[in-house]
Amino acid sequence: MATGRFAPSTTGPAHPGTLLAALLCWLDARSQGARLLLRLEDLDPERCRPEWSHGMREDLAWLGLDWDVVEQQSEAAEAHARSLDELEARGALYPCRCTRAQLRAEQGRNPLLGSIYPGTCRGRPLPAGGWRNCKEALRAALAETRIELRDASGADLSGTPARDPGDPVVRRRDGAIAYPLASVCDDARAGVTHVVRGRDLAATTATQAALQDLLGLPRPRYRHHLLLLEERGGKLAKLHGAVGSPELRAHYTGAALCGLLAHAAGLKDDSAESTPRALLDDFDWKRVAHEDRTMRWTGERLELLA
Ligand SMILES: [Zn+2]
Repeated sequence: MATGRFAPSTTGPAHPGTLLAALLCWLDARSQGARLLLRLEDLDPERCRPEWSHGMREDLAWLGLDWDVVEQQSEAAEAHARSLDELEARGALYPCRCTRAQLRAEQGRNPLLGSIYPGTCRGRPLPAGGWRNCKEALRAALAETRIELRDASGADLSGTPARDPGDPVVRRRDGAIAYPLASVCDDARAGVTHVVRGRDLAATTATQAALQDLLGLPRPRYRHHLLLLEERGGKLAKLHGAVGSPELRAHYTGAALCGLLAHAAGLKDDSAESTPRALLDDFDWKRVAHEDRTMRWTGERLELLA
């Protein structure tokens, strides 16, 4: 059965971009009768808090979105450990002792590296007893093959992730499972067939596809969509910092914000109130704006600038 998922990280209150991403994900799944999963990503012990998971669920319900299954990512610790076992069994797991300072120094000597991990620790063995006894970060040794990948929006995401950006950290030094592995592992377990997410994550897709190949997991169909941006320090950044759900909910009803987000995304000519159910009637990705949109929080309302 077709299965979609929305997987926000719970590192703070929802912002307008989170809510738009959730709305698009919901419309994509519901318009094709797919099962829809909400996965609250709470693996980062320093940045995630339980109250933000709870708040995220409330904010999404306030906007009018519902889910068939709700999961906390941290509850999948055993499955994540099994995926590390699997990588170890395939000889594709190695400890990395490079510090950020060392990697920066290496990149300084060779500016062409950019933020590429050059595989410095590849071939270093795991300690006796395997990865569980390893106090260092762990990386997955990706196959050096080119991944051919085009997402549902037509974006070409092909590349050779083993070289650029290099083998990913799959378990951090502090013991937390890293995003690319957790996400791939959880999507496969849940039978996710459709991943809809913001364009800021497009660059991670080839790495995730290489991890799926390494673990023998099926590849869902990916689609990346527009972002909501704001002007910050003369540059455009994700509309993150300016306003979070407490302020939004103090100034908007769920239907008013839903209408505004749908208008920003190109789904409606005006920003009059709407609901996800009402938008479902004539939802079509062809009508979703391709370009990112810039918004501004005035302290009372969100204005669409461009
Ligand atoms: Zn290293």
